[in-house]
This record gives sequence, structure tokens and C-alpha cells, in this order.
Amino acid sequence: MGAVNSASALSSSAHGSSFAHLPTFSCQARSKANLNSSARFSDLKRVSISKATGLQHSTGNSLLQNFSSPSSTMALQPSSCGGVGMENQDSRFSPTPVSGIHGIDQELVDEMLYDALVWSSLHGLVIGDRNLERSGRIPGVGMVHAPFTLLPTIFPESYWRQACELAPIFNELVDRVSLDGNFLQDSLSRTKEVDAFTSRLLDIHLKMLQIGKKEEIRLGLHRSDYMLDEQTNLLLQIELNTISSSFPGLGCLVSELHRSLLDHHGEKLGLVSKQVPWNTAVNKYAEAIAKAWAEYNNPSSVVMIIVQAEERNMYDQHWLFHVLKEKHNVKAIRKTLAEVDAQGELKPDGRLLVGGQEISVIYFRAGYTPNDYPSESEWRARLLMEQSLAIKCPSISYHLTGTKKIQQELSKAGVLERFLDEKEDIEKVRKCFAGLWSLDDQEIVLKAIGNPKLFVMKPQREGGGNNIYNEEVKENLLRIQKEGTQEDAAYILMQRIFPNISPTLLVRDGICQKDHAISELGIYGAYLRNKERVIINEQSGYLMRTKVSSSNEGGVAAGFAVLDSIYLS
Ligand code: ADP
Ligand code: MG
Repeated sequence: MGAVNSASALSSSAHGSSFAHLPTFSCQARSKANLNSSARFSDLKRVSISKATGLQHSTGNSLLQNFSSPSSTMALQPSSCGGVGMENQDSRFSPTPVSGIHGIDQELVDEMLYDALVWSSLHGLVIGDRNLERSGRIPGVGMVHAPFTLLPTIFPESYWRQACELAPIFNELVDRVSLDGNFLQDSLSRTKEVDAFTSRLLDIHLKMLQIGKKEEIRLGLHRSDYMLDEQTNLLLQIELNTISSSFPGLGCLVSELHRSLLDHHGEKLGLVSKQVPWNTAVNKYAEAIAKAWAEYNNPSSVVMIIVQAEERNMYDQHWLFHVLKEKHNVKAIRKTLAEVDAQGELKPDGRLLVGGQEISVIYFRAGYTPNDYPSESEWRARLLMEQSLAIKCPSISYHLTGTKKIQQELSKAGVLERFLDEKEDIEKVRKCFAGLWSLDDQEIVLKAIGNPKLFVMKPQREGGGNNIYNEEVKENLLRIQKEGTQEDAAYILMQRIFPNISPTLLVRDGICQKDHAISELGIYGAYLRNKERVIINEQSGYLMRTKVSSSNEGGVAAGFAVLDSIYLS
């Protein structure tokens, strides 16, 4: 899932590349704090859904390089892609090339960098500093700006619209699939045999099926990630995150940062801030949680966020809960799974109390990786919560629906038809599916052995750094074949997507470096229903992540990601 362990996801280079060898733009600090920065996160309170109106096309002089893709000359319509602009952790996208950055004056880069660093510090675009031990536990201790691109990445408006339109369809699809318990159990039955983590999740799911547990109020906060495949010009889905979709908070801030930079320096670059769409993610997510809380209908209840004990991406989470508190007056508490086990109590009527407080909504920012369950205590907590009346975001069914195996099953002929009614919706969804296969497809396994660079091998894991690329695909497939075990069921094979690679200015630790990069666009979606009443089903903001690409054919081509936003072309 896109759940990125943010800080580590952003900075760790699961795939190896690092910035160290790259040329560095010096960023000599000038004593010029731009206090007039136009971007104010406090504006969150006033950001309304459809600010993305009236966007015009960028000028041909832009330093940003346009995609050579389908032209899009329509004006953005507020209703479909409205909202904020931006967000996640380790992905790439097929974005934009800032080919023109070669031409940017070093002095301007220095100036923008300085302004960006000041802006980030003043507006909470921060993560915990990995060099400081307590930075993952204590707010306000050891903060460093989140890594970001100095300029937004160009993204064609037509693809942007396409991705936005898909959000409510995927929301509905997740809901429908989640209700088909047998489909989930059957599709994951072979995986269960070889993957202990998925097996534990399935056990909880099965228990809920056996006791006839119904989730009448269902809250989904999803993020569907895409890359734009350069050769085919298709927007293809990387994955759909149904748990811990990260960066609704910091993602919005990067959009604001870019708008601010363009307000002040755009003229010199031929760029205008209004081409960066407003990012509504944090507001929309907070609103969805608040509405779920209201549906639960106990004003004294609180929202509970499930967190990892160490979390350097805590500020992204705090932003969400800050908005929840300030704008909706809903209180939230933070607990680890172990704390829920120690302090949780399930009342005979199904109410969940934690530390004596009744929990209405449980929002998971942990629990998506086996590392989050070091002992039986954490599994007990997960089961306890699942049994309760609290609204789980996600429920175990929503969680399983977001697995890579289910993504692959849904791509099989005739399967989408079981869950979606509208032919048009089915076509739209199918169009964004890349090739996905199970490893029991011998023909495709042979193809992958013959040409491993065209495939990605994915286990049922979330959070980045788990996929297998290039020669290692071949080695692993041959090994599994030779051993003749059931290990093949632990993976799926996916068509490798090759997004456009473009020179980009990436900023980490106060240093701006130029490198070739690729991008991945995530579109947030929020879904809330109470029995037959759909209360929310919408696209709710975006997250662009950009990471260095490696021409190194072996491998795992990505470096670490930085936060980005988009510049519509
Ligand atoms: P996770 O749950 O770990 O985030 P993803 O499916 O999102 O798993 O994969 C992690 C990263 O690997 C993505 O962000 C993307 O950069 C890269 N990736 C995944 N699938 C593909 C693919 N089919 N083609 C190219 N890159 C991919
Ligand atoms: Mg991902």
C-alpha cells in the first residue's frame, strides 16, 4: 500500500540510489525570509472543494517540459477534480520533466531554495530528523523539512481528469468487493498457505464471517497510485491503497509551497501558480472522519488513530488530526496496537473502550506490515477492534481488498463485471489496469524469465521496498520453479511501467540536487456509507511523489522519493 513509513520511506533508498554522487546546487542562505508567502496552511479552514476552477494552460515558454501526450484543451472542471493539490512515499510517476531546469539560473535556484526552506519550516512541512533519536516519538523534537521537489512536475490535464474520475469508481469497487467474503477468502486461499501475515489477516476476516459481523457504517480513505507509461501513453494503476494512505497532510503543503514559489518567482520561469491544483486531501480526509464520527452518533466518543511507536512521519498525521479538531471539533487519541491490547475493552453491546473512552472511528496508520505485529498482543488488538462496533478505517475486508493479489484477481476477465454495474465504469477501470498475472500462469512466467526487465514481482506487502525487479525477477522465478514449492503463491507478476524520465531539482536536508527522476501520482478517495445511504463518495486530493530513476538496468531502479505536486499542462 502506499502506506509509507514516511520518514523512512522517503529517505531510505529501498532501491538503492542515493543523491550523494550527484552534482549539488549550492544553497547559500541569504537572510531573506519571505514572510509574505502566500500559502498558508491555516487556509485549510477555508479551502473548499472546488478551487480548481479556471485553470489555463501553461505557456509554451515554460521551463517545465510538457508530456508529449494527448492534448487537453478543456478547462478544468471544478466538480470532477476539485480540491486541493497534492502527496506519499515511495513511488514514481511518469511525470514531468523539468527539462528546462538546465536553463535555470543558479542564483534563482538558490533564492527559491532558500524561500522554500523557510516556507517549509514556518508551515509545518516537516518530518522527524533521523539523526535525532527522539524525533520519532516526541513532537517538536528534531524536525527537518520533508524532502520535496523545488518545482512541481508537469502533468497533462487529460490524465489528471482521468485519474480523478476513477476515484469514486474505485471507492465503490472496494466497497462491493469487501462485501463478498467468499471472493476474498477464495482469491487469497493459496497465498494464505505461504504468507503468514496475509494468513493472520484472513483468520480475522474468517472469524468475522463466521460470527456474521456486519459493518453497517463503512469508511474508506483510499489512494490509487498511477504512473503514466511513456510508450503507450496510458495512465496505469500501480496499486490501490486501502490502509494507511499517507501524506494527505504534507502533500497539501507541498502544493501550497509550489504555489507560493511560483507566485514569487513564476514570472522568471514562465510559470503560473494557478496551474498547480488546490490539494484538498487533508480537509477532505478530516471531513470524512468527522462525518463518520457523526454517524456513530455519540458526541462523547473519540476517534482513535493507530500508530507505530516510532513515527517520523507524525506531522503528516498530526495535520489531519489538527484539522479534525480545529474545524470539526472532534477529538482524537493516538494509540499503538500494543496499547490498544493493554487498554482496550469490548463491552457486551460491542462498544470499544480504550483507556475508558468510547471509540467511534479507528483510523489505521499502522498495522499494514508484519513489523507492526511483533507479538500476539498486536494481533489481539486487531481482533478486538474488528469485533467492535467502532468504524474501522479500514475494516479487515477493506484491508484485504487492497492487497496486490486482489488487484490481480480483479484484472481477470469477467471479474470487474461481478462488482460494478455500469459498463462505462468497468471500461474506465480496465483501461488503467496494467498487465497483472498470477505465477501459476506458466506462459507468463516463461516470458518473465526471458525478459525480466519488463516485469515486477510483488509480494503481498505494503510500505515500499518489497518488490523485485530486473535480473532478480528471473533468479527468483527460476529458484521457485526449481524448488517446486508453493512459494509462487506469495507473489504476483506485474507489467513494468516505464514513465517518462526527466531532470528534476530534488531538495533534501537543505540541499538541492539535480537528477533524473520519475513520478507517481496518487489520487485520494473518500467513501462513507451507512447501510444503503452513501454519504461521501469522492475524489479528495492528490499526492505526487518523485524519485530518482536509475539507468542501471539491473535493478531496482528507484532511489528515494520526495514529495511533489503537479503543474497542469
Ligand atoms: P507498496 O505497497 O510497497 O507501496 P507498490 O505496488 O506501490 O507497493 O510498489 C512500490 C513502488 O514500486 C511503487 O511506488 C513504484 O515506484 C514501483 N512500482 C510498483 N509497481 C510498478 C510497476 N508495475 N512498474 C514500475 N514500477 C513499479
Ligand atoms: Mg505503493
